[in-house]
Amino acid sequence: MNVSYYWWILIKKFHKLILIISIVLIVVIPITISIIFLSNSNTFTNLDVDLYFNGDNAYTYVEDQLNINTTHYRKPGTQGREDCAKYFVSKFQEIDPSINYTLHNFTIHSVDCQNVLFKMNENFTNILILGAHYDSRARATKDSVNQNSPVPGANDGASGSAVLIELAKVLYNRRQNLSVQIWFLFFDAEDQGYDYSHGILGWDWCEGSTKFVQDIEDFYNSSEEHFDAMILLDMVGGANLKFISEQHSTSSLLNELFETGRQLGYTSAFPSDPIINSITDDHVPFVSYGIPSADLIINFWDNPAWPYHHTTEDIMSHISNYSLEVTGKTVEQFIYNNYLETNDQFQGNFPWNDDFNLPDSDLLTLIMIFLPIIGIASVLLIVRSRLIKSKNST
Ligand SMILES: [Zn+2]
Repeated sequence: MNVSYYWWILIKKFHKLILIISIVLIVVIPITISIIFLSNSNTFTNLDVDLYFNGDNAYTYVEDQLNINTTHYRKPGTQGREDCAKYFVSKFQEIDPSINYTLHNFTIHSVDCQNVLFKMNENFTNILILGAHYDSRARATKDSVNQNSPVPGANDGASGSAVLIELAKVLYNRRQNLSVQIWFLFFDAEDQGYDYSHGILGWDWCEGSTKFVQDIEDFYNSSEEHFDAMILLDMVGGANLKFISEQHSTSSLLNELFETGRQLGYTSAFPSDPIINSITDDHVPFVSYGIPSADLIINFWDNPAWPYHHTTEDIMSHISNYSLEVTGKTVEQFIYNNYLETNDQFQGNFPWNDDFNLPDSDLLTLIMIFLPIIGIASVLLIVRSRLIKSKNST
């Protein structure tokens, strides 16, 4: 008589129930999860349409931003930052002299900061936000030598902003066939947070986007207008572009961007097995506000293919016009897929509206592995208890 004896009695008594539960664990749950996965991927094909985003143009906009001020670059509170905001205004006025724009002023520790917002197609009540930060980091805290020097921020800041300018240009030419209001939103004060042992200005990350979302009701009419989605571009111009599966992002939206890019043939930038990580970035305040948001960003913390993050080497020679074009064309295609009125019947295609956030894929993999193991173990227990029973009865 011992504890395991009672255990065997229990197993024998309930062996049918255990068998049913085991079958559910082994078969039904993994199949259901697989079906959910499959039904959430590849449910659309890219619209067959010409794309006009030009990576060479975007490259020159990165270069322009770096040349604005080579002493402080676009450090918050400096002339360089101020002149960069003016540069955006001049570029957008080249596209449309009467374009509506707003300078969103705020202060962080009494330093004057400024987000810049341009609106296109304001007659539509559904809004798509395209965002990027444009400030450059005050100090190269990850540089092995020049930790007190400013970061030029060719990739970290200027690349996303450059893609927004080129996108504005190509989308403006098709604006009359796009059934959406588009915001081009440039954030100040994203990149001054605490890094390893270095606090810079005593600031947090994403100060500009946080302030913007605090004041967002000042920029739209919440009783008539609503936000479809927000797409953030951060470090999209480095050589060897490879986006990660960023976990604060709305996964259905990020998955759709990945699938859009993959269908364009950009399978290296949008890998089928991306690195998974959660990044504190400018999309997070928008997610918290309830807007489906996705961050297109690379592995910047441990990447031998792009080791220049927060160093003085974040410069033009490590920028690739191809990477800029991959990013720009993917977002351009995404917008046509969802908003280009190719005929009168076109209703738009908003998969994230009725989608849900899939759980973290690591967690899912663990569940897929462990549930069948538990199931198989249960079956083995039953078999063993049957064997013991038959042994005892002979
Ligand atoms: Zn940064």
